[in-house]
Amino acid sequence: MANSNKPLEISGQHLSLQSLASQRYLPKLAHAKTSRIYTGRIGASSSALKELKKEKRKRPTRSTASISRLIELPRPDVLNSYLSYGEILQYLDYLRLRYCEFVKLHTLGLSYERRPIRAIEIHWNSERNLWAQAKENRISSAPSTYCGELKELELCAPERGRNTVFIEAGTHAREWITVTVALHCIHQLTEKNGRHRELLRKLRFFIVPVVNPDGYEYSKNKNPRWRKNRRPHDDDGYVGTDCNRNFDIHWDQCKSKAKRNTYPGDKPFSEPETKSLAQMLHKLAPKLLFFLSLHSYAQCIMYPWGHSKSLPQDYKLMESVAMAARNAIKSYNGRYYRVGSISNITKRIIAGSVVDYAYGVVKIPICLVMELPSTEYGFQPPPEKISPLSSESWCGIREMCKQAYSIKSQIDESEAKEVLESQMEPSLPKIIITPKEESNTKPSSNLGQSEQVLLTESFEEEAKNNNKIQPKFNVKTQRATDCYYPSLIDDEFK
Ligand SMILES: [Zn+2]
Repeated sequence: MANSNKPLEISGQHLSLQSLASQRYLPKLAHAKTSRIYTGRIGASSSALKELKKEKRKRPTRSTASISRLIELPRPDVLNSYLSYGEILQYLDYLRLRYCEFVKLHTLGLSYERRPIRAIEIHWNSERNLWAQAKENRISSAPSTYCGELKELELCAPERGRNTVFIEAGTHAREWITVTVALHCIHQLTEKNGRHRELLRKLRFFIVPVVNPDGYEYSKNKNPRWRKNRRPHDDDGYVGTDCNRNFDIHWDQCKSKAKRNTYPGDKPFSEPETKSLAQMLHKLAPKLLFFLSLHSYAQCIMYPWGHSKSLPQDYKLMESVAMAARNAIKSYNGRYYRVGSISNITKRIIAGSVVDYAYGVVKIPICLVMELPSTEYGFQPPPEKISPLSSESWCGIREMCKQAYSIKSQIDESEAKEVLESQMEPSLPKIIITPKEESNTKPSSNLGQSEQVLLTESFEEEAKNNNKIQPKFNVKTQRATDCYYPSLIDDEFK
């Protein structure tokens, strides 16, 4: 008897009734522009689902696979057009059904206008996928548990230490190209998973293609120049806050008027979008290796700090990752990306940004902003440029992921050493900073008590005291001329 939570194998796909029941975007079949696939024979619209459940109740012993209702799930033209937010969610749902063994969706929270902010998790080493792979590889003696025996068969690398890459885009509403690049990354890691198997076996990915869906929709439909979110201010009648100035790190250094594009909000985490993203980052914090924020169109790759001209203790580590992308893109088509810290490249102080927060408060070891090209195209390059720009950007992003993985062991070892040392010296004082105390690195006080952050002295303070930055890691940074980028098809790690 079919159970509603049990995956059903239909036409080679695993679908669950529960997952189909949550498909709110399926009625938008009319928006489909390109290829359609048959994902199964279960109706997924609400009426079809009711019929299906009725039929199941009538004939409980009959296999659900034999129910002959054919549905088709459209796949939006994700590679060559700027999708609406509804189409983006539809694409994510399409992927969840098509690749349910290693794809999951998460809702970070709701935007001000109550749109769900979605993240896609791509986890090749999930137990379910390992099991499916083992079956596909015809391992005769199926293991009683997924891990253990499967890992002995070296189907995947052990997932010790930090193994997760987090990519976010669409924070600034008008930067449509960042959204399509994030979707292209998702496309490569799911629909083209065969090309990137080594990368997928080593890293887990969380990608949020649109952090600010209200602003994105407003920019698409009303005002293409719109940058902020869409929450009206409480007292002055203006609408919108810059989500990349609203994070709780040196927030009060960002002085900007309510009508300006860089208005940081009336307090840190005043916006549901930034709060949702921060909560997700804190939840994943111990596993996060590399955080990438996509923006446009300054054509550069930047590391913290934005709030200060000083450099973080381990900026060389982040620079080595940024250089991997710069070199890869240079080899790919000759485009030149600048690399440096946010404040040094932009020549101004940018406080309350997500990248400073991810590095300074969440403590992700590698945090970068990639500003996509270019002055030639602006925030919304013409549709015919979407595909080449996305391919070029993916080429760089993929190399950054590889480089981040190659220095992962150094990071894990260093952190393990720090934990050991702190255990050996229990009397070593740590500072718990309350919201009212002054500090260099502020706590996420608006995230609730459970997420109060335990902080040690900030890197900046350390650098001031030492007068010289002492890096924890010894990383060699490639120069542009050292780079050899073999080919787009070769996905093996060097
Ligand atoms: Zn931006």
